[in-house]
Amino acid sequence: MKSSDGVDEQKVFLTELLAVVERITTSGDLQAVTPLLDMTTEHAQSPLLSSLAEAFARMVVQLEAREFQLECTIEDLVRVKQELEQANYDALTGLANRVIARDRLHQGLLQAQRSEQQLGVLYLDLDKFKWVNDNLGHAAGDELLRQVASRMRNTARQADTVARLGGDEFLCVMPAIADVSAAQDLAGRLVECLSQPFQLEADRVSIGASVGIAMFPDHGDTVDALIACADHALYDAKHGGRNGYRVYSVTRQA
Ligand code: GH3
Ligand code: MG
Repeated sequence: MKSSDGVDEQKVFLTELLAVVERITTSGDLQAVTPLLDMTTEHAQSPLLSSLAEAFARMVVQLEAREFQLECTIEDLVRVKQELEQANYDALTGLANRVIARDRLHQGLLQAQRSEQQLGVLYLDLDKFKWVNDNLGHAAGDELLRQVASRMRNTARQADTVARLGGDEFLCVMPAIADVSAAQDLAGRLVECLSQPFQLEADRVSIGASVGIAMFPDHGDTVDALIACADHALYDAKHGGRNGYRVYSVTRQA
């Protein structure tokens, strides 16, 4: 081969190589390995050019392998995220579930003990919810629970945890509050907003909610003790006529 032929061949090779590299970088098209393999045979007479094409081909194969690994890792991450969401969030409403509620309450207690602040636990149960299921159907009941969750989330502070414990029972954890008045204020606003009518497809329904409040440190200093006190106070609110709230009273009647 004459030297001018060699220069021409190098020019052709570099132009082809540039086109392949541009194809990979602009469109991420890793199928470019095929033209690279063609180039190794086309330039078989020139060991340097052939080796260069082969080296690029190997690089593209490596890139493809890395891309595949990355896709697998992303699929794994999406699956783990879904599993975590199922374990931590209520599937119907998207609120935190009982596990997260208890954990946030535990964390809130540690924080309140350190900062010498109070913490409020609100246990909420809808009034006459069964009526909706029985008269409008379970799907209407589900829709109502979703709307209740949304109103509760919009009423509570960002720092508060709003969780669905199951059925028509919800728990709010209010970390770092000054005193019971903050918990009473939220309970009052929740009762008020849940007493407003709900639009369910063709039906407009009114229900209500009852809330029991327990405070750290006055009523307990553990997750179980505070939830039990809030549940007792909820029982009092139900028996006091519903659609209202009660603060746990140490002197309550059994
Ligand atoms: P009360 O005023 O005494 O609280 O009575 P209630 O009618 O609200 O009834 P209660 O709290 O005792 O029971 C809640 C009902 O919620 C019982 C169950 O049939 C229904 N329920 C539980 N889970 C779900 C759910 O995921 N979807 C729907 N639609 N209903 C549910
Ligand atoms: Mg109820």
